[in-house]
Amino acid sequence: MIVIGGGLAGCEAAWTAANQGIRTVIFEMRPVKMTGAHTTSRLAELVCSNSLGSKLSDRASGLFKEELRILGSLLVKSAEAAALPAGNALAVDRDLFSESVEAAISTHPNITLIRAEMTEIPSDLPVIIASGPLTSDALSRAVSQLTGEENLFFFDAIAPVIALDSINMEIAFRASRYDREETGDGDYINCPFSKEEYETFVDTLLSGERIVLKSFEAALQSDTNKNGKYFFEGCLPVEILAARGKDALAFGPLRPVGLRDPRTGKRPWAALQLRQDNLAGDQYNMVGFQTNLKYSEQQRIFRTIPGLENAVFERYGQMHRNSYIAAPGLLNSKLQMIQHPNVFFAGQLAGVEGYMGNIGTGLIAGLNAASWIQGIDFPEIPSETMIGSMLYYLSHANKESFQPVKANFGIMPPLKEPARSKQERAKQYASRSLSALQQCRMTNSQSSTF
Ligand SMILES: Cc1cc2nc3c(=O)[nH]c(=O)nc-3n(C[C@H](O)[C@H](O)[C@H](O)COP(=O)(O)OP(=O)(O)OC[C@H]3O[C@@H](n4cnc5c(N)ncnc54)[C@H](O)[C@@H]3O)c2cc1C
Repeated sequence: MIVIGGGLAGCEAAWTAANQGIRTVIFEMRPVKMTGAHTTSRLAELVCSNSLGSKLSDRASGLFKEELRILGSLLVKSAEAAALPAGNALAVDRDLFSESVEAAISTHPNITLIRAEMTEIPSDLPVIIASGPLTSDALSRAVSQLTGEENLFFFDAIAPVIALDSINMEIAFRASRYDREETGDGDYINCPFSKEEYETFVDTLLSGERIVLKSFEAALQSDTNKNGKYFFEGCLPVEILAARGKDALAFGPLRPVGLRDPRTGKRPWAALQLRQDNLAGDQYNMVGFQTNLKYSEQQRIFRTIPGLENAVFERYGQMHRNSYIAAPGLLNSKLQMIQHPNVFFAGQLAGVEGYMGNIGTGLIAGLNAASWIQGIDFPEIPSETMIGSMLYYLSHANKESFQPVKANFGIMPPLKEPARSKQERAKQYASRSLSALQQCRMTNSQSSTF
C-alpha cells in the first residue's frame, strides 16, 4: 500500500496498516520539496501549536485521545512520551515527538519511507492520501481530477491585528454585546458606523485590490471563486462576504445587536468588534475580518472605519492554503472513495481539522485500507464515539454547506435523557463512548486490532 504524506495522518495510517501485516510505502516530499509551513524534514512535524489539546476525557479532544489510546495509536503514545508540563493539556516537546514517531516508522519491518513528491495517484494500488492542508500543486491537480474540481477547496484566511494604542477611543468604545453600558469595561472594543459610513465603507471595500494568488492557486481565480468557492464558508474573506449584498456585513461580522454607542445612547447602524489578541493586551484582532486584500489596501480601506483612522497594523490579514475535499458523497464512513475503492483519504485533506482529528482519521484509514486489502470487512466504529461521529459527519453531512470538522460534542448523537448541565452532558457522552468502544472490541475480539 502507498501512503502519501508523512505527517500526522500519514504516519498513523502507515503504522496502523503495517501492524496489520500490510507492506506499506510512505512517500514524504520533505526535504526534497518543502511546504510553506513546515521547517524541518521530520515526519509528523507539528506546524504550529505544540498542544494536542485536553487530556480530560470529558472534553472533546481528551475523549478523542482516550479512544485512540484504546485503538493503539502510535502518535498518542509518542505524544505522551514527549509530554511537557501543561496542566490538563497534552503539550509536547515537538522535536522529541517527531523523533519518536520517525524512529517507530523507520524501524518498522513493514514500512519503507521514500523521500519524494508523489504527483499522481496510483490507480492499481491501495493508497491513502494524507498529504495535508499544504498538498503540493501537482498532487492537488491529481486530487482535483479524481474528486472533481468542484469538490476540492483550497484556502483559509486570517484577520488583521491592530495596536491598541492606535485605536481612537474617543470614537470606539468598550463593551460586550448586551453589556450594561454603564460599566464600560466589556471585553470588546467596538467601532460604530452610521448608515452613511457603513455604505461608503462597503463601496470602498468592494473596490479594494486583492492579492493575486500564486501558481496553481491563480488558476482558480474564476467567477466561482469570487462568490466564495474554494473558501471555508465560516471563514470567508470580508470582501467576498460584502459582495453578497449591501447588508451582508451588517448582518454578519458588523452586526450591531446588543451594542449601544455611549456617544449617542443608540444602537449603531453597524459595528466592527475588536478582540484582544495577545496576553499583554496591547493588540486587537478585527473579528470576522479575514481578508485577501493587498496590505496597502487593508491600510487604506480599514482606516476608513470609524475609530481606526490612525490604526497601526501589527499583522495584516492574509490567506493561506488549506486544502480539503468535500467528503460527503465522495467518501464512505471508512474514509474510502465510493467511486475508487482503492483510494482512502485521511487528515486535513479529508475535511478534518485539528491535530487529534488528523491522527484519528489516519488510524481509521489505516485499519480500513488494511482490511480492504485483506478482504475483511472491518467493523464500523460505533457512532457514539468521537471518532465514529466524525466519520459519520464526513460521510453524511450536507454537501452544500460542508465545513471541515474538529472533535466536538456537537457532532455526537444526542443523549436519550437530556443532562442537567453542560459538564454532566460531557461526562455522559464520554462514558457512553468508552463503553460503546469496549463493547465493540468484545464483539470483534477475533480482529487483531481489537
Ligand atoms: C500553518 C498551519 C498551522 C496549523 N496549526 C495548527 C494548530 O496549531 N493546531 C491544530 O490542531 N492544527 C493546526 N493546523 C491544522 C492541522 O492540524 C495540521 O496542518 C496537521 O499537521 C495536519 O495533519 P495532516 O497529517 O493532514 O497533514 P501534515 O501534517 O501537513 O502532513 C502532510 C504531509 O504530506 C507531505 N506532502 C504534501 N504533498 C505531498 C506530495 N505530493 N508527496 C509527498 N508528500 C507530500 C507534506 O510535506 C507533509 O509532511 C495548522 C495548519 C497549518 C497549515
